[in-house]
Amino acid sequence: STPATSTTTRQVKLDKESELRIEVGMEIPLRLRLLTGTAEIFGTELPPEIWLSFPPRHKFAVFTWYGATIEMDGITETDYTADETPMVSYVNVHAVLEGRRNHAKASSSTDPDSSQGPRVIVVGPTDSGKSTLSKMLLSWAAKQGWKPTFVDLDIGQGSITIPGCIAATPIEMPIDPVEGIPLEMPLVYFFGHTTPSLNVDLYKVLVKELSQILERQFAGNAESRAAGMVINTMGWIEGVGYELLLHAIDTLNANVVLVLGQEKLCSMLKDVLKNKPNVDVVKLQKSGGVVSRNTKFRQKTRSYRIREYFYGLANDLSPHSNIANFSDLFVYKIGGGPQAPRSALPIGAEPAADPTRLVLVNINRDLLHLVLAVSFAKEPDQIISSNVAGFIYITDIDIQRKKITYLAPSAGELPSRFLIVGSLTWLET
Ligand code: ADP
Repeated sequence: STPATSTTTRQVKLDKESELRIEVGMEIPLRLRLLTGTAEIFGTELPPEIWLSFPPRHKFAVFTWYGATIEMDGITETDYTADETPMVSYVNVHAVLEGRRNHAKASSSTDPDSSQGPRVIVVGPTDSGKSTLSKMLLSWAAKQGWKPTFVDLDIGQGSITIPGCIAATPIEMPIDPVEGIPLEMPLVYFFGHTTPSLNVDLYKVLVKELSQILERQFAGNAESRAAGMVINTMGWIEGVGYELLLHAIDTLNANVVLVLGQEKLCSMLKDVLKNKPNVDVVKLQKSGGVVSRNTKFRQKTRSYRIREYFYGLANDLSPHSNIANFSDLFVYKIGGGPQAPRSALPIGAEPAADPTRLVLVNINRDLLHLVLAVSFAKEPDQIISSNVAGFIYITDIDIQRKKITYLAPSAGELPSRFLIVGSLTWLET
């Protein structure tokens, strides 16, 4: 890697099938544009000559198939060119998926199997480039006019909405390299924690709920059914993490499993899926450009994602501070809560730990600085099976006056009085 320099504008010439890997500095954005040739960022083509501004800490690569000249303005943390990339193998996967989409589209839409396009699931350890490969496959498909569904099961570093959620959204256009996934109407379920181990059963229940809704949507929409899905997963691949991967493959009926950079995981999956002849397990090389992010960086990224939800990427949104009475809102927690002691149960009964039990939470200062989801549920018993409308952030609890102050994306009434709380916190900075 090159040390940061003090020059401002400079040009970089890229040979065919090479990429410019950039880490934007911690404080100031970087401007970049395509001067000659053609180039793309994670599957999305750059417009010629137009300056794009990348926010601080952004890590990305500008790849060219046929050669390009790039101009940069600003100081980077690192930037270097690489001519060894796995891009050819990635685009070959895309070509196979295209074939399957065309096949699905051409088949009679009454046959549920042959009209189903590829359901791709991307698996691998953390920092193997899963989200990046997912974005490329989606953007390449969208460029060819498909509207594939992106499913993000990564509750730690997801790209659709804030952390602690699993979500799905159709991708109708190549993903904007700066803005990311457009947040029109994503289907979001709130898990409430950034690691699944806090409630593994709830995680599975939510994946199941999400898959049922998607299945229903596909049944009524031949076009999106043929386009298929790309599913991004968590980097936890051992023990329970592995079990959750198998659960996701099974629940979402994935038929293409792309394994990034892990021989062992690949052979384990091949072995366990060998009696499912319609599921292909494909090993792919990890890109040398993938940047490893430590725990602290991940925490920071999560915090920025929450900030972005309320304030926008470029501080372009104005969230609203609202006040409600304790009695206006019902805050639920899923799972946990005190279990009935054995002595209170009939003889022989086990104190069943119900991980999906709804517990009404007393409103007190423990809620301070937590991020809560606003459920679409009409009744409390629908909360677990309902997706969420959005999020609020608790900024003050006044016990004396029984008032809650919270930040919401907009002013006015919340879409529902049912809120879900987990362990997701945020410290506004
Ligand atoms: P994972 O989803 O497996 O945790 P990501 O796809 O999020 O990994 O990649 C980790 C980081 O590396 C991201 O910030 C991503 O933008 C960056 N990255 C991925 N591929 C490249 C590349 N070829 N050049 C530069 N940065 C990259």
